[in-house]
Amino acid sequence: MSLFISRMERTLLESLNKIYKVGLYIRLSREDDDKTLESESITNQKSLLLQYVKENHLKVYDIYIDDGYSGTNFDRPDFNRLLNDIESGRINMVITKDMSRLGRDYIGTGNLIEKYFPEHNVRYIAVTDNIDTFLDSSNNDIAPFKAIMNDMYAKDISKKIKSSLKAKMKEGKWVGGRTPFGYDQDKDNKNRLVINEEQASIVKRIFDMCLEGLSFFKIAKQLTKEGVKTPAQYYNFEWKGNYNLKYGEWHSKTIRDILTNRMYIGDMVQNRRSKVNYKVKKVIKNNLNDYIVVENTHEAIIDKEIFYEVQKKIPKNKGRNEKKEIHLLDGLLYCGNCGHRISITSRRKKDNRCYTICNYYRTYMKKKLCTTHSNNYDELEKVIINSLTNLCLNYINNDKIKSDVLNNLTEDNKLNNKKELERLSNDIKQINDNLDNIYIDKLNTKITEEQFERVKVKLEQELNVKQKRYSELNNSINGTINEESKYKMINDYINKFLTMKKFSRELIINLIDRIEIFEDKTISIKVCFMKN
Ligand SMILES: [Zn+2]
Repeated sequence: MSLFISRMERTLLESLNKIYKVGLYIRLSREDDDKTLESESITNQKSLLLQYVKENHLKVYDIYIDDGYSGTNFDRPDFNRLLNDIESGRINMVITKDMSRLGRDYIGTGNLIEKYFPEHNVRYIAVTDNIDTFLDSSNNDIAPFKAIMNDMYAKDISKKIKSSLKAKMKEGKWVGGRTPFGYDQDKDNKNRLVINEEQASIVKRIFDMCLEGLSFFKIAKQLTKEGVKTPAQYYNFEWKGNYNLKYGEWHSKTIRDILTNRMYIGDMVQNRRSKVNYKVKKVIKNNLNDYIVVENTHEAIIDKEIFYEVQKKIPKNKGRNEKKEIHLLDGLLYCGNCGHRISITSRRKKDNRCYTICNYYRTYMKKKLCTTHSNNYDELEKVIINSLTNLCLNYINNDKIKSDVLNNLTEDNKLNNKKELERLSNDIKQINDNLDNIYIDKLNTKITEEQFERVKVKLEQELNVKQKRYSELNNSINGTINEESKYKMINDYINKFLTMKKFSRELIINLIDRIEIFEDKTISIKVCFMKN
C-alpha cells in the first residue's frame, strides 16, 4: 500500500500505528498443499508477517495459527480465538498474508471485511493484496471480489511468490537460481551456499591477476590461452552463438562481473533482476537500491581487504547497459509480419531518440528474414496512448455492455441463488443418508430385496436431479461473480487511465494484451476489455 500514500499520510500512519494491538492470523489447509506453493507454508506466512510488522513499527499481541483447516468455512479454533480477542478488545488490528488466508468463502469473507471489522473498529490488512481497510485505496473496492477472481489467479500467484521470496532474501537465504561461480548449493540446506573449491581457485586467480595490474581483457586472454574452463562451460550453458565470442573463451565482461561481485566476500546479494510483470517474461536489471544484501551469510572466497583494493582499480560505469531505460510499452510490442518481439533501442546520443526494431530482423540481419520495423519510439507511444484513449472512451460510452453484465446481478437474485444452493446441499445429504438407512434395513432384513430395489431406484433418481441442479446453479453463480468482478476491475482500470495524466506500466499492461506493428507502419492494439 506504500504505493498509494503520501509522505504526510505515512507519518500520520506511523504515529497511529503505536495504538494498534495486532493479531497475526495464519492458515494452512490441505487444499493449499496440492498447489505446491511453498509460499503458503506456516513459516513463510509467519516470516512475511513479522517482517511487515517490523517495517511498520507495529506491536503484536498474539499470533493465531490454524494448521490444516480449509478456508471454505469459519469453524477453525484459532480463528474463533481471534474473534474472541477482538470482541474483548485485546486486539484492534488483524493482518494476514492475503485475503484467502482469512477465508475462501466469498460471502463470509466479504461480511468480515465490510461489516464485522468496521463494526468492531478493527483495521484489516492483507499484505500481498495491498488491502488496508483504513486507507482509502482503490484496492479496497475490489476486496470482496478478490477471493473469487480466477482470472487474476496468475497475477496473484506471481505476487505471492515474489513477496515470499523477498522475505527469504531479507533473511539472507539463497533462494535459488544459478549459484554464483565459485559456490554450490549446500546439499543439506538449499538456502545455503558452500564453496566449490575448483571454481574458487579460478576466482582467486582472477583477483590476483587484477591486483598485478592486468586489464580485464588481458586476464580474459590469458585464461583462454591456458584453456581454463569458463563459467558457461561449468554450467553447461546452451550456446546461442549470436555474438562474436567462441564457446570456451573468457570475456572481459565475465571478468568484470566476477571482480565486482560482493558474494565473494561472504555477503548475500540478491534481487538483482526482476521480471517486468507476470504477463511479460522479460527480465530487467534492478537498481542498486533494490538489491537485497545481507552480510556474512556464507564463507568468503576473497578477503575483504583484497576485494576493496580491487574495486578501486575498476573503472566506473563502463557497462553500456547499466542504466537501461524502461519504456511504457516494453514487452508489449510484437512484429505484425513475423510475430517475434519488437525491442526498443537505447537513446542515441546525437538526437536523444530511441527506435523500435524487430528482434528477428536484428538477430539474423544478413539473412533478411524480416525487415527493420523501425519507428521513432516516442512518437509511436503517443499514437498508441491516443488510440487506447479512444478505445476506452468507446467502451465507457457503450451502454449495452454495461446493461448486459448488470442484468444478471440483482442482489435479490444472488441471495435467492445462494439460498437454493443451501437447500439443495441439505437435500442431497438427506437423500444420501436415506440410501444408507434403507441399505442397513435391508441387511437387517427389515425390508425385502424387492422393497429395497424400488426405494433405491426412486432415491437415486431424486439424487440425480438435485445434483444436476446443484452443479448448474453453482456454475452459474461462479460465472456471474467472475463476470461481475472482471467487469468492475476493468472499469476501474479504464477510469484510472482516463483520469490520469501520467501512466504507469502496470496500468497499461492491465489494459493492453499485445500491440502489433507492421512494416507499413500500421498498428493493431489488442486490449483486454474487448474481444476481437
Ligand atoms: Zn519481424
